[in-house]
Amino acid sequence: MDKQGEARGVSFDSATLLYGVFGDPVRHSKSPIMLGRAFAETGMNAAYVAFHVKPEALGDAIRGVRALGIRGVNVTIPHKVEVMKYLDDIDETARAIGAVNTVVNRDGRLIGYNTDGIGYVRSLKEETGAAVAGARILMLGAGGASRGVGYALAKESPAKLYIANRTASKAEELANDLTAVADAVGIGWDRIDHIIGEVDIIINTTPIGMHPNADDVPIDVSGIRRGAVVSDLIYNPLTTKLLREAEAAGAVVHGGLGMFVYQGAYAFEYWTGEPAPAAAMREAVLEAFGARIEGTKA
Ligand code: NAP
Repeated sequence: MDKQGEARGVSFDSATLLYGVFGDPVRHSKSPIMLGRAFAETGMNAAYVAFHVKPEALGDAIRGVRALGIRGVNVTIPHKVEVMKYLDDIDETARAIGAVNTVVNRDGRLIGYNTDGIGYVRSLKEETGAAVAGARILMLGAGGASRGVGYALAKESPAKLYIANRTASKAEELANDLTAVADAVGIGWDRIDHIIGEVDIIINTTPIGMHPNADDVPIDVSGIRRGAVVSDLIYNPLTTKLLREAEAAGAVVHGGLGMFVYQGAYAFEYWTGEPAPAAAMREAVLEAFGARIEGTKA
């Protein structure tokens, strides 16, 4: 037994179930700490480990899941799209998003889900109290994370969903994919200033402001409505410069840690059928960041 396992009172034996995350790179991932805590907290005889899987080895890695009876894996960059071709079935939402971040091994059948978007929306609603239904939303960015978040938001009946992207054609493409579900419009970055004062929720899904470029901000927030919600998918740093400036301008702010916690919580629930200990999972990630944990909630 490793030292960490001993400290948590966990022991592994020949009945231990294995879970993990496939990524390249993967050594920075906080998923093993977070899901490890979830299994320990719920007293399950399970282990969760990080596997460094190169793109050319993904097919073999998935065959390994089947051969070894690994119960479930998260898949992260760069495998979220490619993994789909190795699975037996893909959940309707993940298919619509076009990416999988969670694989469930159900009696030998591998099923792909996407928990990023639903994790984000659960976190946004719980942590800010914001209503997505009827809200006018501006999403900055149209990359991989935006697809999951955009789809989950669209399903919650917003009044309007603007998607602004540096490459406007990608914003239009994503908006087109969402129009069956919501009133979505793709716009170029230059249009942001025209609509920023009329939206209720602004969400940064770009990496602008992420460590090590923590001094960058994607937009000028001086034109936002007081009381608007400004949300950032980035969780390193926990509070981005965008959020600091938005708070000073009177916004309710929301960081990306909750999305990370809840995408993992949903994965845990899909794998085990048990409610995830979200508060303990959040605490584990904050501890790993060396952050203060008093008064936080998941
Ligand atoms: P991605 O697929 O590479 O997409 C990046 C998006 O940002 C694209 O729309 C891109 O625009 C835009 N962008 C990048 N640099 C820009 C710049 N300098 N100016 C304007 N636009 C820029 O990345 P992703 O996987 O979606 O990840 C995006 C962010 O979300 C990352 O910070 C990631 O850490 C975060 N994230 C957080 C969680 C969580 O659990 N909290 C989960 C997933 C992702 P173009 O199309 O014009 O290139």
